[in-house]
Amino acid sequence: GERVIRVALAERSYDIRIGRGLLDGLGGAVARLAPGANVAIITDENVNRVLGERARASLTQAGQRVETIVLPPGEATKSWDHVGQVCEALLAAKIERGDIVVALGGGVIGDLAGFAAAIVRRGVRFVQVPTSLLAQVDSSVGGKTGINSPHGKNLIGAFYQPSLVLADTAVLDTLPVRELRAGYAEVAKYGLIDQPEFFAWCEQNWQGVYDGTDAREYAVATSCAAKAAVVARDETETGDRALLNLGHTFGHALERLTHYDSARLVHGEGVAIGMAQAFRFSARLGLCAPADADRVARHLAAAGLPVHPAQIPGGVGTVDEVLEAMAQDKKVSRGALTFILARGIGQSFIAKNMPRDDVRAFLEA
Ligand code: NAD
Ligand code: ZN
Repeated sequence: GERVIRVALAERSYDIRIGRGLLDGLGGAVARLAPGANVAIITDENVNRVLGERARASLTQAGQRVETIVLPPGEATKSWDHVGQVCEALLAAKIERGDIVVALGGGVIGDLAGFAAAIVRRGVRFVQVPTSLLAQVDSSVGGKTGINSPHGKNLIGAFYQPSLVLADTAVLDTLPVRELRAGYAEVAKYGLIDQPEFFAWCEQNWQGVYDGTDAREYAVATSCAAKAAVVARDETETGDRALLNLGHTFGHALERLTHYDSARLVHGEGVAIGMAQAFRFSARLGLCAPADADRVARHLAAAGLPVHPAQIPGGVGTVDEVLEAMAQDKKVSRGALTFILARGIGQSFIAKNMPRDDVRAFLEA
């Protein structure tokens, strides 16, 4: 059956609908949001190949006029060039304020299409149809949209909430397994942040999430509910939304040190290593039991994820280089390192002003 999570925001609330086969209901869902509207689908070449026809068929059957804007796949697409092209294509397609932009794809498409929707005509409503596990459990929820700059990732953007998120869990069947695993790191993250019982569920059911049993819907719904709750408390990340960065201080540093070369490391792999490191670091500081750190690494490794920087092909350089890369994180304010640490599984907290020497001693150990 279908699961629905409501994202309750001060300005405007919206639903996340999760279930197998929901893509075929896209036309009906959009027609309810905006009867008679024109629709522009923004997607990438890979996703267009496997899902484009179905999305278009559903929309045209519901009586909508549809344009499709197809972009190259990959992180490099999150650029000013592509936002510009997409905005001009939306205007050429006569997309107006009452119309709908559909982001059909992974996080790259969701971030880019959401940003284009935020700025074209000062805001056109958009619907997220996330097609990667990462997008279904993380990037499609919360309203962060944007692109990359030569100065860093995600440095240009806007908070712009979708009107609906439609997560068809069956579309993950064609996702490359490495992408599936990377998205799974973010699923396990929600358990590690504040839901120990969900982490224990993950240890028992991860294979079902990969295989596409009902466990997959449960994992996506639980993840979305967790993110929605955090976002509702802290829409623009001034406070405890930062908990969602568990594993990301290390993870982002590792991505930077591998030059965002997806052949060596993808984001979720960096997060898996980062979460394992955050728990090891917590254990070293005497905050959590070493057995908890072992349990975290054991589960992530069982699910096919790397759990140590030494597993990255080509290595990541010296301790100083890792420290320097961590200090460059945009979540770092004025040189102080902020980490998400843990007192145990499901007991994460924000640790501001971590002394660099403690971090160094840990990295050198
Ligand atoms: P992605 O969008 O590049 O998708 C991964 C790959 O899978 C791509 O090659 C894509 O074409 C392919 N793909 C997607 N769905 C498919 C399907 N159903 N079948 C076959 N192939 C499919 O990457 P991603 O991991 O989904 O997202 C990463 C992006 O998300 C990053 O840019 C990151 O910054 C962003 N992000 C944003 C937020 C946020 O809050 N906005 C949160 C986390 C990550
Ligand atoms: Zn992440």
